[in-house]
Amino acid sequence: MSASDCIFCAIVAGLAPAARVFDDDDCLAFMDIQPLARGHVLVIPKRHAENLFDLEADEAAAVARTAKQLAHALRTVLEPEGLRLFQLNGAAAGQTVFHYHMHLLPRNADEPDVNPAALHGRKPADRAELEELAGRIRTALDSHLVS
Ligand code: 5GP
Ligand code: ZN
Repeated sequence: MSASDCIFCAIVAGLAPAARVFDDDDCLAFMDIQPLARGHVLVIPKRHAENLFDLEADEAAAVARTAKQLAHALRTVLEPEGLRLFQLNGAAAGQTVFHYHMHLLPRNADEPDVNPAALHGRKPADRAELEELAGRIRTALDSHLVS
């Protein structure tokens, strides 16, 4: 998959919709369209890099910094008992979108467990609901509650 037919590059370029929660020179973060749980967020580098092996070290650092900020925002907004971070490299690992992305997945102990590598076949979430949640996460990021 090249940048020209990549859905995440289209989101970066503003050519495809997404409920965005964070945007800077290096990274973009938005709500996963088929969330495994409420508050499922993806962080991507803006440059098209297929997987961890193609990522520059400074891009990996930028994604990690953004994930850290978002972790605090998700905790402020949703107060989950736990938070999973994971990312998949290569089809054999379960990767389905070949533009590097980090998943942030809030989790409570009493919820059904999910296999992060089995991300297929879920239903798209309600767009208005994703936008409402994205707005709350953006507010938490902007507030001084997030360090
Ligand atoms: P992977 O299996 O590659 O780690 O996960 C890809 C993720 O991207 C999945 O969780 C899927 O729901 C999400 N996704 C796929 N296409 C889109 C899209 O067009 N918009 C958004 N927001 N998420 C997407
Ligand atoms: Zn891309």
